[in-house]
Amino acid sequence: AITISGLVKHYGSHRALNGIDLEVRRGERIVICGPSGSGKSTLIRCINALERHDGGSIVVNGIELTADEGTVQDIRQEVGMVFQHFNLFPHLTAIENCMLAPQLNRGLTKARAEKLAMHYLERVHLADHARKYPSRLSGGQQQRVAIARALCMEPRILLFDEPTSALDPEMVNEVLGVMEELAASGVTMLCVTHEMGFARRVADRCVFMDHGEIVESRDAASFFQAPESQRLRDFLAQIL
Ligand code: ATP
Ligand code: MG
Repeated sequence: AITISGLVKHYGSHRALNGIDLEVRRGERIVICGPSGSGKSTLIRCINALERHDGGSIVVNGIELTADEGTVQDIRQEVGMVFQHFNLFPHLTAIENCMLAPQLNRGLTKARAEKLAMHYLERVHLADHARKYPSRLSGGQQQRVAIARALCMEPRILLFDEPTSALDPEMVNEVLGVMEELAASGVTMLCVTHEMGFARRVADRCVFMDHGEIVESRDAASFFQAPESQRLRDFLAQIL
């Protein structure tokens, strides 16, 4: 579970997050959407300590995220992250990308890391491509490697930041399909996406952000059918 209270983040004088309260229960799947610059990535990145927050608190599975490097490492064991631009290491094959963190951070032997990596590459339907370098894979395949790589740390929570928005349209569904399979397996998910079909099918709750604040947060059905705020209505009218 993640409990965020009064979260504030500044970049210089710009207030990117202006008092965010958000509770993500275990096994819950939450979709975050909102206009460009509304603070979605900043929120996700604060949870993983890729950005440090200036106010409020973030508690992940009972661990409060503080400046202490130890808690940062503890939280990164609990939380996996998938980025918009896959961020695979280009000089490593798909399976080597997946094997790296388990060996460095979980102390697995090379043989065990390889077995684990193959297990998760199978889960994202890429076993046949395990020995290829990222440059020889399609965008959708690269993103599925990135998902397998996150899974190799066996995190209890997965964060996604627009995982399909850098993909060619024909590759979006293969990545969303893998994410839906993960959702069905009970992983806790917090996902920034504008794929509203995915949100409808998978999300327990949808959160709309604007100007560093959560404007609306509710179950997926009423989020789409009966948005309360004018800002969300305008946003949905633009993207649907
Ligand atoms: P998008 O949909 O375009 O990805 P977003 O909702 O993810 O937008 P953020 O990336 O969280 O928005 O940015 C929130 C605000 O903070 C924006 O005004 C942005 O310009 C600013 N910002 C983000 N990162 C930085 C940074 N590293 N330095 C300075 N300002 C930043
Ligand atoms: Mg963003």
